[in-house]
Amino acid sequence: MTVRVRVAPSPTGNLHVGTARAALFNWLYARANDGVFIVRSDDTDLERSTKEYEDGILDSLLWLGLDWDEGVSVGGPHGSYRQSERFERYREVAEQLVASGAAYYDDRAAEELEELRKTAQAEGKHPGHYIRRPDQAATSGVIRLSIPQDSAVEFDDMIRGHVSFEPQDVDDFVILRTNGIPTYHLASTVDDVDYEITHVARGEDLLPSTPKHMLIARAMGADEPVFAHLPLLFGTDGKKLSKRHSATSLTEYRDAGFLADAVFNYLCLLGWSVDGDTTIFSREQAIEAFDLADVSKNPATFDPEKLEWMNGEYIRAMDLPAFMAQALPHIEKSVGRALDDAEIESFREIAALVQERTKLLPEAAEQVRFLFGNVDEYDQKSWDKVMTKDGVAEILGAASTRLSGVERWAADAIEDSLRSMLSEMEIGVGKGLQPMRVAVTGSSVSPPLFESMAALGKQRTIDRLDAARAHLG
Ligand code: GLU
Repeated sequence: MTVRVRVAPSPTGNLHVGTARAALFNWLYARANDGVFIVRSDDTDLERSTKEYEDGILDSLLWLGLDWDEGVSVGGPHGSYRQSERFERYREVAEQLVASGAAYYDDRAAEELEELRKTAQAEGKHPGHYIRRPDQAATSGVIRLSIPQDSAVEFDDMIRGHVSFEPQDVDDFVILRTNGIPTYHLASTVDDVDYEITHVARGEDLLPSTPKHMLIARAMGADEPVFAHLPLLFGTDGKKLSKRHSATSLTEYRDAGFLADAVFNYLCLLGWSVDGDTTIFSREQAIEAFDLADVSKNPATFDPEKLEWMNGEYIRAMDLPAFMAQALPHIEKSVGRALDDAEIESFREIAALVQERTKLLPEAAEQVRFLFGNVDEYDQKSWDKVMTKDGVAEILGAASTRLSGVERWAADAIEDSLRSMLSEMEIGVGKGLQPMRVAVTGSSVSPPLFESMAALGKQRTIDRLDAARAHLG
């Protein structure tokens, strides 16, 4: 039997880290089993769902490197993969369930139901019974599923093991609203049945919905899929992951300069690992080793610092052209224009040094900005710390004169000349180089100074030393 799995984002926001993890695990399971990965859009909430969010979510999935075999934007044998385009189908199923006696119309008002609930309580019955009235057939109203009261709903979850819900844990819930809009339970189950989903892997927050979905599937006479409930995501403080902890949408991570490969790798670790102690692994290794049955049932901690560390590891592992290609858009964004060939060449000169010092791509842009414009503003903190000391004017003046005499403009020649100058002046290297760094790069934090000067060029270096000196007042 071909494995058919799906992810079902609701386009009411950007792709959430939790949904991205669910997408990733389903994708891995499909790829590990020569299966089919499906992306459908759970857009029954017509007011909050937008095309922009749907596009954004699909973009984020593609950015992460997850491709799908059937679904929104690629199509497939099942017609539409958008719930908003399948309302007819849900209504048809709901009516079939009424016809077979598995569901019924309920036209009672909320107050009446509240009364019944109270009566049930007074009679010592479980409130789950209050609503039952299969004998009184209304012909309009919401449609509710009639829950069999005689047996527990049980299943073997691939991750959580045996799970059992007592009948009274499940109320006669609404499957179709008066306005014809299906509830999540109905739409999701009909889709899973129609698309012949074999395994439903989704967040543990949806566990309470699962008995409802199993009962709808049974009432439809369909096979239930195998369920796998993925562990909840917590922040480092042990509380449920939310915006308070860190960014929770994939777009924010992409825009902050994270690499898709690093995010992919890190998301894998939220409940699973290739072998228990390897933290960095490739997509191929993950596909090779992945099994839903190996996912942990313990909550997983989402630690943005660890993700950042991992991103740095991925950046350092890139070859130079790849690093430059990834960093360039961030540099151009920061500079506000495209770089010309000569400028890209000067970036290349220090790119390897920048790469070593970068955990996030925009940091690379920060480090090389000085190459692509004038230093018309100095970082205020750097200036106050470094440039207000005694002797700075002398150091900058001497460096400017000394560098004018350097013939071969290369990092080693610049280094030799500045070191011998400082030793003649009896000034320590650290103390002597810091003002030059601020003058040339605008900041006391920069790539190594001699290489930075080499990349900047002789005349511009000298001009900046002079300009900073003039700026001292
Ligand atoms: N639309 C649901 C969500 O975004 C997913 C439901 C499911 O996987 O069944 O959480």
